[in-house]
Amino acid sequence: IVRAEMFGQLTGGLEAAWNKLKGEEVLTKENIVEPMRDIRRALLEADVSLPVVRRFVQAVSEQAVGVGLIRGVKPDQQLVKIVHDELVKLMGGEVSELVFAKSGPTVILLAGLQGVGKTTVCAKLALYLKKQGKSCMLVAGDVYRPAAIDQLVILGEQVKVPVYAAGTDIKPAEIAKQGLEEAKKKNIDVVIVDTAGRLQIDKGMMDELKDVKRALNPTEVLLVVDAMTGQEAAALVTTFNVEIGITGAILTKLDGDSRGGAALSVKEVSGKPIKLVGRGERMEDLEPFYPDRMAGRILGMGDVLSFVEKAQEIMRQEDAEDLQKKIMSAKFDFNDFLKQTRAVAKMGSMTRVIGMIPGMSKVTPAQVREAEKNLKIMEAMIEAMTPEERENPELLAESPVRRKRIAQESGKTEQQVSQLVAQLFQMRVRMKNLMGAMEGGSMPALNN
Ligand code: GDP
Repeated sequence: IVRAEMFGQLTGGLEAAWNKLKGEEVLTKENIVEPMRDIRRALLEADVSLPVVRRFVQAVSEQAVGVGLIRGVKPDQQLVKIVHDELVKLMGGEVSELVFAKSGPTVILLAGLQGVGKTTVCAKLALYLKKQGKSCMLVAGDVYRPAAIDQLVILGEQVKVPVYAAGTDIKPAEIAKQGLEEAKKKNIDVVIVDTAGRLQIDKGMMDELKDVKRALNPTEVLLVVDAMTGQEAAALVTTFNVEIGITGAILTKLDGDSRGGAALSVKEVSGKPIKLVGRGERMEDLEPFYPDRMAGRILGMGDVLSFVEKAQEIMRQEDAEDLQKKIMSAKFDFNDFLKQTRAVAKMGSMTRVIGMIPGMSKVTPAQVREAEKNLKIMEAMIEAMTPEERENPELLAESPVRRKRIAQESGKTEQQVSQLVAQLFQMRVRMKNLMGAMEGGSMPALNN
């Protein structure tokens, strides 16, 4: 069977945008108008919700004209990369992992409308977790349809996971509780509870789900939605989240000819992440939702993306080399000083995190606070300098009048200003020595 390429139509629609930029030298406000229109159209045709499309197009346009051209990268390639990164952001950025209970069984409550693939997901999820070494149990909470119970039992057998069922003469919250007790007795790691699906949202369904949720105190409450329903899926996630409070969504039927609207809208519209996706009818067809891989698949331009990333990397390297040259020629000025100090301050906040790890508390919070306070003082003084003074610290070394002015403007003492100037010249010397040592080959690891 030849499967339709996932989101093929969307991919094709976006391609039109890149094609319009072929032969252009740079991205401008004018020449991105047409491509942005293509992107907008492609997303709307993929059934992404309108407010999401608007925000997306806005974010991409701003970046497209705001970003400097990366050497060697053509405008169409650059736009591909911007769209890719925005798509990743749109879908939540990082993969959103399932959460497990710290003690006792993890309870995963599954909700969803009829026909979305909820029962199938129960068994798929059990198999998926079993492969991670967790023991699972399914609970047949759809007490209205005997056929649903039978189906769960059959699927449970198929993936070799026990199914707790108690017929149809029992309240869902009650069977859920019983199932959980049973799981505790058997030392089961994860209990997956199926619930009744209706054809559409109604109050009875929501009330019942609330009951079950209250009875179980589940670790995860996941709404199963069908990718074929596009932005409607995102609206459902929102409704369920508002009504009962959910932790995420599972998107099924991402194979076949779904258009992408659901995958792209759920997070942005509901604030809840897609945690897992179903990509076929086999029990193995369930996997984590990776925003970056999904974006890559939508664009279908893996080679362009990695090329642009490489080019960006080279640019960053050249920036670093630029700094190195400045240091070697003793041109290291207050602008660089500020950049460096800020970078170090950022690392200071990191050490604060490290400080929380037992046995790694070398840097005390007091030291970090002290460093941050010093940075503020330095920033105030550097801000009071004129651009010439920042670029030529010699001006300050030579002129007490200038130093006095800076002290007054920044509200610091003249002594503090003198100290800062002295510090810069010391830093120049220290850095030059350090660089000299590196150039001399005594630190080969840094010579690539
Ligand atoms: P429920 O009513 O929500 O419990 O839905 P079911 O689990 O009974 O699934 C309904 C139909 O959707 C079944 O025929 C499943 O095989 C099919 N299905 C479920 N998940 C997927 C999927 O990820 N891809 C495809 N192609 N079909 C799926």
